[in-house]
Formats: sequence, C-alpha cells, structure tokens
Amino acid sequence: MKSAFLQTTLEDLEKKDLRRRLRTVEGPQGPRIRIDGREYLNFCSNNYLGLADDPRLIEAAVESLKSEGFGSGASRLVCGNLSAHERLEEECARFKGTEDCLVFTSGYMANVGIISGLFERGDVIFSDRLNHASIIDGSQLSGAEFKRYPHADIHKLEEMLPEAAVAGFKKKVIITDSVFSMDGDIAPLDKIVELARRYDSLVMIDEAHAFGVLGEHGKGAAELFGLAKEIDIQMGTFSKAAGGFGAYCCGSKELIDVLVNKARSFVYTTAIPPSVAAASLRGLQIIEQEPERRRQLWDNTHFLLNGLKAAGFETLNTQTPIIPVVVKEARTAVEFSRRLLERGVFVSAIRPPTVPVHTARLRVTVMATHTRQDLQEALGQLQHIGKDLCLI
Ligand SMILES: *Cc1c(COP(=O)(O)O)cnc(C)c1O
Repeated sequence: MKSAFLQTTLEDLEKKDLRRRLRTVEGPQGPRIRIDGREYLNFCSNNYLGLADDPRLIEAAVESLKSEGFGSGASRLVCGNLSAHERLEEECARFKGTEDCLVFTSGYMANVGIISGLFERGDVIFSDRLNHASIIDGSQLSGAEFKRYPHADIHKLEEMLPEAAVAGFKKKVIITDSVFSMDGDIAPLDKIVELARRYDSLVMIDEAHAFGVLGEHGKGAAELFGLAKEIDIQMGTFSKAAGGFGAYCCGSKELIDVLVNKARSFVYTTAIPPSVAAASLRGLQIIEQEPERRRQLWDNTHFLLNGLKAAGFETLNTQTPIIPVVVKEARTAVEFSRRLLERGVFVSAIRPPTVPVHTARLRVTVMATHTRQDLQEALGQLQHIGKDLCLI
C-alpha cells in the first residue's frame, strides 16, 4: 500500500491531539460569524478594526472590478504591473515614511521572498525563537546560517552577535516579529536597533499584527518606537487590521529594487488582482483617517485583558489585542475551545507546532467592533468553563 503513510500520519496526529480540521464559515468576517448555520461571537479573527466587510472596501473592489477586470494576467515583471499596485505602493511608502514599498501576494510569500532574496550562504540570520513560520521558512530557503535567540532575550542576542563577528559572516540581520502572533507581546525594537548599530547588523521586522494597531497613526511598532527611519526592512500585511489582502515591504529605493530582481516569490508569481490592491488601499486610508477605530480596539482590549487577568487566567506578557489564555496541554485547549463553541463563542485552540509544547492555549483576539456586551459575554463564558476545567 503505497499511501498507507497518509493513514498513519493522521492517526499519529489524532493520538497527540494535534489533528486539525477546517470549519466552514458562511458570510462575512465580523464580531459575529455563522458556522454550520449557527451564529457565534467571533474572538479569533485578525480583523482588528472590523474593516474586512466595510462597505468602502467592498466598493473600492467593485469599482476596480468594473474598470480593471478581475485577473491580473501575468507577473509584475511581465505585463501584470498595474496602476492599482503602484497606487498601493506609493500610499503605503508615504504612510510608513519610507522611500519605497513593494507589494507581495501575502505575508507568507513576502517573508519567504524577502529573506531568501537578500541573504545567502555566508550570511547569518538572528531570529527570535517565536518568530512566524514564514520567517523560519524564508531563512531556511536562504541558505544563511540560522541562529535563534530565546524569545525577546536581548542579553542572549548581545552574546551571540560578537561570536558571529569572529566567525566572519558577510552580512548579519536580526529578524523579529514586532508583535508576536501567538503571545501578543511587542519586541524590544529600541534595544534591537541599538545592538544592530553596535554590531553592524541589518534589522528586519514583521509588522503583520502591528500595522493599523500600534503607533499614534497605526503605522506599526516602527512608529511606536520612533524608528521608522532606522529599521532597514519593514514588512507587514494588509490581511489583518487593514481588512484586505496582500503584504508590503517598505524600505529604501535600493532595497525595493533588489527585491524586484531577487525575491523569487515576487518574480515568479502572478500579480495580485487589481481589485484586491484597491480594497487594501482603501483599508490603509481608513486606518489613517479613522483613529477612533484604533482607540475603540484598545478600550476593548484593556477591558477583556483586565477581566481575564482578574479571573486568574495565565495571559503571559501580552500588550496587544492578541490575548493568549495558556492552558498548557493540547487536549485541554481543544476541550476548552469545544465547550466555548457549544456556548456560542468561537475561540480557536492553538497547539504545537504553532506554539512550543506544553504551552497550548486559546488565542483570544479582540476587535474594535465588539460591543461591551460581546466582551462581557465572552468573559463570562471563559470564566465559567475555565472553572469547570480547573484552570482558575
Ligand atoms: C499572518 C502573519 C503572516 C502571514 O501573512 P499572510 O498575509 O496571512 O500570509 C506573517 N507574519 C506574521 C507575524 C503573521 O502573523
């Protein structure tokens, strides 16, 4: 039986409580979503500002569809470089305060293409242990030496950098998520940039969960720390707070020029449809024009986080709308999530290998469009089931 391995793979996952299954969501992403005909409170979306079904994004997409069609026809370097892409890139560079910007199909493809396009054998990458999978994959593809440092551990990083100097690597880069997608904490970018300066290293950040969320104007952690000009490679996505799809890399003109030539996930793939770029642009504009959405997001975040902490849940060191409720074992996380679903609250269980073993959790994410009542309902259910499971 040449495909018996499929069966054993699934059985193996099942035994470890690590088998994942897809759920079918009907209708748009919002604070409430419909699954199998029933409505649930949604506490696991990255649609932080509630823009994914905003009528203005829909209208931007529809207008573009009517005038520019659906498919983009080719890769950007062939004949798929459309004005919709360039408008998005110009606006994104202006917003981020960088010289230039390049749009990628997704955050995953951006990280894979940026890292493997810029770094190679003979270079060294310092990567936070909790960085997103796409950073790890891009690093491995690059062929550069891959050195992971313990999560946000500046002292350990400071020990590793001089060792690398002795080893004589050609280029050095420190890569970090600016907001960690499963823990919700913020990377110490000020200290990282300071170390990078001292040891002549480049810095790359992934702002997937920071874009639209952090900083006075929602430009991300680079703005929060006042480091927009100091961080060499600033990647982020339109797929989360912006309510759209696709990703950006912001930086110098030279950086973007090199990526156009070297990032294989940019070169060898069809350009995103113009309607997608148009909707993402509209999302970016709303981030800029409606700071009240961000204020509401933070109000909601503080309310829920304070409630969960007061109830006695382990929420790690989160500083953002990503609130981990750590339950340790995968089985407990699955059971917690299942019971919440029964009671009308959708929070997904996060298990290894997405997070380290024995740190399985519920990952609760807050949206600006949750009402106080939504938050109270979720908090109440989390407490009720948390007590039942002897977690608090
Ligand atoms: C979601 C995410 C990505 C991937 O972005 P997509 O646009 O969904 O492909 C990359 N990095 C981090 C930190 C993320 O959370």
